[in-house]
Amino acid sequence: MRDHDELLATLRRIDGRGYRAYGDLRGPWDLSAPFREREPGSSPDGARPCVLQVDHVQGDPFASPSRVRLQIAPQAAALPPAWHEGADRALALRDLLARQLDRACRAGASRRRGTGHSGEVAVDAPGQEVLETSAVIIRPGGGLEARLTVGLPARGRRIAGGEAAAVLLEALPALAADALVAAALDHQAVWRHVVTVEDAATLRRRLPDLGLVAFLADGAVLPRRSGVDQRPLPATAAVPLRSPRSLRVTVDLPHAGTVTGMGIPRGVTLIVGGGYHGKSTLLRAIERGVYDHVPADGRELVVTDPAAMKIRAEDGRRVEAVDISGFIGELPGGRTTTAFRSDDASGSTSQAAAIMEALEAGATALLMDEDTSATNILIRDARMQALVAPEHEPITPFVDRVRQLFTGRGISTVLVLGGSGDYLDVADTVIAMREFVPHEVTAEARRVAADHPTRRANEAPGPLTAPRARHPDPASLDPRRGRHAVRTAARGVRAIAFGRQEIELGALEQLVHPGQARAIGEALVLVRELCAREGASVSAALATVAGRIAAEGLDLLARREPRGDLAGFRSLELAGALDRLRSLVIRDPR
Ligand code: ADP
Ligand code: MG
Repeated sequence: MRDHDELLATLRRIDGRGYRAYGDLRGPWDLSAPFREREPGSSPDGARPCVLQVDHVQGDPFASPSRVRLQIAPQAAALPPAWHEGADRALALRDLLARQLDRACRAGASRRRGTGHSGEVAVDAPGQEVLETSAVIIRPGGGLEARLTVGLPARGRRIAGGEAAAVLLEALPALAADALVAAALDHQAVWRHVVTVEDAATLRRRLPDLGLVAFLADGAVLPRRSGVDQRPLPATAAVPLRSPRSLRVTVDLPHAGTVTGMGIPRGVTLIVGGGYHGKSTLLRAIERGVYDHVPADGRELVVTDPAAMKIRAEDGRRVEAVDISGFIGELPGGRTTTAFRSDDASGSTSQAAAIMEALEAGATALLMDEDTSATNILIRDARMQALVAPEHEPITPFVDRVRQLFTGRGISTVLVLGGSGDYLDVADTVIAMREFVPHEVTAEARRVAADHPTRRANEAPGPLTAPRARHPDPASLDPRRGRHAVRTAARGVRAIAFGRQEIELGALEQLVHPGQARAIGEALVLVRELCAREGASVSAALATVAGRIAAEGLDLLARREPRGDLAGFRSLELAGALDRLRSLVIRDPR
């Protein structure tokens, strides 16, 4: 393997030449000597404690920075096995190392050293959630691999060899020594990170046995600083969660010990209360409880059924061959709705489609908020039933389906609804938010329901039919763009560019990291292959993709060189992206 001296010689040779000559850097470089200077005694002679892999060289100083990997040998990283034994701890440690790398990059490893991205060193940094990502990998023996991007330095468009040496031979080995060896880490902080994730993951796995859709620990801080800042509201401003006695659940966790909190039981749960009393904030915390959170987030022990799906209205979206007849019968003009298609769905049809698509993708709980729902899909009261006869109203409101969903199919619903009492008849649990404090009011709700009958008739014509298998036409998932056979990219968490199209993700409110959108863009290419090769249905393709990622890791989605900017996602969001692809065509079942 070429060593640091050869790297230095190469950089001297190409100094001042056209940027393309950086191509000579591709491949592995042994950086053990500069690494040992910073970490003396960290590894026995003969071993290679630090190797740099240059995987992709950018085309010019303004293009996306080059992709490299730093590989640290097990003896050099010296990670205590307790930090990463078991899947939960390994995930937590990888996440912590990515954060540590990000801090070290910002603290000086990354520095402007010329034109364009010259000198920028970066890792894909996690947010408040602890996600599976491809940024840092722990190899079976305890070796580490960190995936970074490096802007190779230039003056104008000419190679700045001296600056490149400062990045590759000084900044990167220093980064490895500062962020990727146990000696450089705050052991207490590592342990806190690891046990926080292990407790949350353990708690989430226990939810089925506890009969819960979600658990929110007493003392949890649910509100965030703002719509664009997911850090917790400062303790002085936030009212910590206090569970109502009747919903209080006690759990024993491996590290936190005995913890009490509010359990949201399976079934139909209604969250009521006056405006601005914290209803939506509670639901949002439940939405995000499908993920683990970092220490001090406030939601460390807020956990939710991992297959709980936020459903909302999204008028204008595309819907392709979704059977929404359980909610919306024949439309004006005799259009049937067993394979409903629209390029411009209404609020109600989009929400009905979202429910059926979520069921198809395996959702086991639905989360809805009046703030983002179509009123007419949620409710149709007695007066409106009297004024508009059922034969003139195609909609079967959700209130007439929500119990069937649970009793017939085991699918729970948590619904925020402050504006209508019609659901009091169908709810198993009613939680009232008062000044940010939850109270259980199920008994009062029953009394009110008895004293004030709605006099409305259930309009469900029969049981809700299961979603029919849908088989995408692979030609309708076209990832080509210009000379590229596959071109996908994420625009934050808001959209995916897939081939020549743009997939809007705004309604997938449980997407939290751009890496998830990038990974979903690539996963759609796999879905296309499965549909082309095996004629896979949507649900079969989702299961295969999830199974392969579980077995092979996110690197499965890196078509060329390994990349560090992919994050784990649920089948529910992959389905959500597929369903929003405007070109999607579902083949006729015949
Ligand atoms: P609702 O849905 O009942 O109208 P929201 O959940 O939107 O109410 O909350 C209204 C405001 O109160 C938001 O700005 C939110 O950040 C804040 N808030 C919510 N819960 C808390 C809490 N526990 N402590 C302090 N502020 C909160
Ligand atoms: Mg609200």
